[in-house]
Amino acid sequence: MTDLKVLQSPATLDPASPLAVRGLTVSYGEKPALFSLDATFPAGAMSAIVGPNGAGKSTFLKASLGLIPRVSGEVTVFGREVTRARDRIAYVPQRASVDWDFPTTAIDVVLMGLYGQLGLWRRISGAHKARARACLDRVGMADFADRQIGQLSGGQQQRVFLARALAQDADLFLLDEPFAGVDAATEAAIIDVLKSLRAEGRSVIAVHHDLSTVTAYFDHVLLVNLRRIAEGPVATAFTADTLSETYGGRLGAVQIDSLALTAAPKKSGV
Ligand code: ADP
Ligand code: MG
Repeated sequence: MTDLKVLQSPATLDPASPLAVRGLTVSYGEKPALFSLDATFPAGAMSAIVGPNGAGKSTFLKASLGLIPRVSGEVTVFGREVTRARDRIAYVPQRASVDWDFPTTAIDVVLMGLYGQLGLWRRISGAHKARARACLDRVGMADFADRQIGQLSGGQQQRVFLARALAQDADLFLLDEPFAGVDAATEAAIIDVLKSLRAEGRSVIAVHHDLSTVTAYFDHVLLVNLRRIAEGPVATAFTADTLSETYGGRLGAVQIDSLALTAAPKKSGV
């Protein structure tokens, strides 16, 4: 942390946090997608970002990364401006947003994750290829290294994108709906890898769609719907009350009741 940073913002964002934002407002044209959002994700933990379709979850990741402009707000990554911390972040975008019609093999995709470490014009060496293969192996895709990415199933593609993120050797992993449309075996493989990253002290933040697995998979949760509805440890922030506030009428009472089996119950602390 530099002294300059402290001088610029007297009430500093937590420098130990892998991602902290304050007053983040993002707008597409006139229409706000996020309004004055605060969040502080814990280091060495798995965090979920949860909210209905169109809540601004993907926007949150993109604006935090500086991929889209923000109207206002501050973002720090381990206490630094995000532009000065890019080498510490690996980002896996929402899969539907990537078009893989052009010919690229799985190992090429993973090698892209190494470009940041190569420097301009440096050639890919045997060591880089070995590293890329090790990353594919870690996600159970070693046998598919030379397969065209467009020929892989959705779940297999998602594992390859995770392998690319692993190749970046980042401290913060940002994933946008990593389990969307993948098979059960892929979901289990991905969660294993994410847990092993956490065990190494790395931080994982994932936009997560499946409310029934939030409690099992994550330590910390941000519930968002244009604004921050709740944030904190899953045990205290992921409750029937915060869920109904986040989803409004979109989750029926029956669904909220069944989720309350995993979420903290509405009144007592059973
Ligand atoms: P989520 O990921 O939570 O489903 P998004 O962050 O993708 O939501 O979108 C938040 C809101 O912003 C939605 O209403 C969406 O339609 C709108 N939006 C997202 N991207 C754009 C864009 N490029 N241009 C205009 N509106 C957008
Ligand atoms: Mg999204």
